[in-house]
Amino acid sequence: MARKTKKGRHRRKTKTRLSKSRLFIVAIALLILIFVVFKAFKATSTGILAAKDNVSSLVSRVSGKSADTSQVNKDKQFDLDEENTDVKKKYVVYLDVGHGGSDGGYKTKDGVYEKDLDLQISKLVSSRLSSQGDVSVIVSRNTDKALSNAERVADGNEQNADVFVSIHMTGNDDKSAEGVQTFYRVESNDASDELATLVQKSVIAYVDLKDRGAMPFTFDVLKENNMPAILIQCGFLSNPKEEKKLTNPEFQKDLAEGISQGILSFLDAQG
Ligand SMILES: [Zn+2]
Repeated sequence: MARKTKKGRHRRKTKTRLSKSRLFIVAIALLILIFVVFKAFKATSTGILAAKDNVSSLVSRVSGKSADTSQVNKDKQFDLDEENTDVKKKYVVYLDVGHGGSDGGYKTKDGVYEKDLDLQISKLVSSRLSSQGDVSVIVSRNTDKALSNAERVADGNEQNADVFVSIHMTGNDDKSAEGVQTFYRVESNDASDELATLVQKSVIAYVDLKDRGAMPFTFDVLKENNMPAILIQCGFLSNPKEEKKLTNPEFQKDLAEGISQGILSFLDAQG
């Protein structure tokens, strides 16, 4: 009986010791688990912050376009800048800014001139494209000056541009007319239609505007170009709802991103 009790006690002691060491292991495992979860959470929240911090790189990733390296690798920006100084620009984009000077383009009832909005949008497109390491941008005007269509076309040809993109808006007696439309050269077997389709699709993906499609049209500025040439009409200033959008800086930024991404996907496809 006494022996049994002793044995029983002994067994109980072992059991207690065992559960103590088991408890210890569980505690260690728990600590490790907490540490891992904390690390993972920290990494995720840093990732979210970084993504929020850099809308353009996020947008590039969403659109399938390779993200702008100078934006993503902020820590390595110095190295990248050093490397980029000697890189020859691969593509030349000619941005033809609509109207200018005495030619104001469409004028809204609030006294807003199309020429000024064309310039604002073009400046945003230009800076977005220029942030791409292999693209250089030439604009037909960066001030409020008049230019003939012949001058614009000749300038683009002289600059040996890879694409010619004319930025406009429009107006109509019908106040309900709305939407974005991209026109391309009629006598073109040079992929002008492809460029128009890509830019139109991209803009529609970035901003809330009615899709009026891509179509050929005989604008004077789309006649004698030596390269794929398009004219984008970003919307109807005669439509009060659309005027509000087109004059909104945030909307303009998205619109410019859409135009830029369309041009970039065209250039990428050219190789
Ligand atoms: Zn115009």
